[in-house]
Amino acid sequence: MLGGAAVACVPILLVEFSLNGYVERNARAKLESTARSALGLAELRLENAMASLVDLSPKVEGCDRGSLEVMRKTASISIPIKEIAVLDESGITICTNFGDGGEERSVSRELPLADNRFEVALIRFRERNDRALRLRLERRNAKPLSALIPAAFLVPDTLDSDFQDGRSLRLVLDNAEIVAARPTGDEGLSIDHTRTLGVHMKSERFPIAIVAERTRATLTYEYRDLVSLGRIGSALVTILIFALAALYFRRNRSDPLVQFREAIVNGEIIPFFQPTIDIKSGRLVGAEVLARWRKPDGTMVSPANFIPLAERSGLIYPMTHALMEKACTEVGAIHVNRPHINIAFNLYAGHFANDGIIEELKAIFAKSQIGLSQIVLEVTEREPLPDLDLARDIIARLQKLGIRVAIDDVGTGHGGLSYLMKLGVDTIKIDKMFIDAISTERHSQTIIETLLELARTMNMEVIAEGVESFDQVEYLRRKGVHQAQGYVFAPPLPASSYIALVEAMDASGVTRSESTASAA
Ligand code: C2E
Ligand code: CA
Ligand code: CA
Repeated sequence: MLGGAAVACVPILLVEFSLNGYVERNARAKLESTARSALGLAELRLENAMASLVDLSPKVEGCDRGSLEVMRKTASISIPIKEIAVLDESGITICTNFGDGGEERSVSRELPLADNRFEVALIRFRERNDRALRLRLERRNAKPLSALIPAAFLVPDTLDSDFQDGRSLRLVLDNAEIVAARPTGDEGLSIDHTRTLGVHMKSERFPIAIVAERTRATLTYEYRDLVSLGRIGSALVTILIFALAALYFRRNRSDPLVQFREAIVNGEIIPFFQPTIDIKSGRLVGAEVLARWRKPDGTMVSPANFIPLAERSGLIYPMTHALMEKACTEVGAIHVNRPHINIAFNLYAGHFANDGIIEELKAIFAKSQIGLSQIVLEVTEREPLPDLDLARDIIARLQKLGIRVAIDDVGTGHGGLSYLMKLGVDTIKIDKMFIDAISTERHSQTIIETLLELARTMNMEVIAEGVESFDQVEYLRRKGVHQAQGYVFAPPLPASSYIALVEAMDASGVTRSESTASAA
């Protein structure tokens, strides 16, 4: 059950896992595209400003009128440039296109560009909360020139509306200084990376990078429909798996074949023992093993309810095997020192379809206290044998081992007398049907007499089955029948009762030390 639950949870985990993966991949791809276009714009602004400064450079010598005029002109036509200045060697502004020294500001450490005439630094204005990048062009015979690109030009404010709800974009210098942030005002905010999904895209040409991030909470919100749909889907699949599994187990549990197979494995098929009596001497001859299905709740199922299924399904073979082994362990001991006590097993016609039964019997009884010469195998006449010649051969080989073979239910089958003559068996068991009819049908007596005559000529033993009355015993005894089985003597008994009966009726199994002990 636990295993089933674990299996059923697999789709939920799989869907959850792949949904998370999908959402994250999708969101990351979007962030990357945002970062790429933002970086592209910032690079374009820097390139434009660099080109303008290079153009301007030969036309500006210092802070003279002419130079200021050209600087003003360039600043007005170049979109990203807000201020152009002439600097002294230490980077202090001497004059700007506005004619003065410009707004008060602080300048960060300068970073060199790939084109080593240029350096870039972050400018923070004192008066207003704004930032800009300053490009500085170093000139050989004149003072350096600089151009200011306001943050708003590098990362347009128009993006502000796109960068809300937990999304953010920042332009950073390689020295980690933040140049611009969207939404505006986030410049100083540090971001908790455990709660955000982010991409860091570095420029190949400039010492700048774009960091685009969004909180995971907004991801969950944006993809809520998809995630809910996925979860509903996986829950449905899980319910389906559960339902199918439950159905499967229910069906399996109610499948009689599955139940019966488990009963064999669990040792629920047990032997009962019905005594056979020598009606001349009154001695116990042995017993026939009859299968019973003892359910775990104690109820006893009779063979009529499971033998047909066992035969149809082939489970009769493992069942017979298990029954023989069980009989060995349960009543093996009473066969020691009582070689005249026999034990009979019922075989199925299919057992004679090949000679495997011979080795199987040898293997089972080799390690038991029951000798092969104590064994009787009963073959019913009700079912036709698959191959009469093979069956005869198998029977002969069994007899060589000392095993005796009996035909069961004689008179009821289709084989008739020729069947009996061909098989060469040791014993015939006259069916209860004829015993029942002894006192009522003359016809039945005639059949019994014919069978007895046949047995005599063929040197076979006779056992009368299903003997229920003293009159029947009398009749059989008169007719010279030696052995009988039936309720008049004993019904099939559980092992303990049978053992008690054997010990009570037949003292020959008691060893000398036991008998001296009991005498003392
Ligand atoms: P069967 O081999 O002819 O066994 C005799 C049946 O008659 C047994 O029924 C027994 O309990 C019953 N019986 C014995 N004496 C009397 C009596 O005086 N009066 C009445 N009314 N019945 C009596 P059970 O045990 O129900 O077995 C029924 C059949 O199931 C058996 O008939 C046999 O064909 C089959 N069977 C039982 N155990 C096995 C087994 O281990 N292997 C196979 N292949 N068949 C088995
Ligand atoms: Ca039988
Ligand atoms: Ca029988």
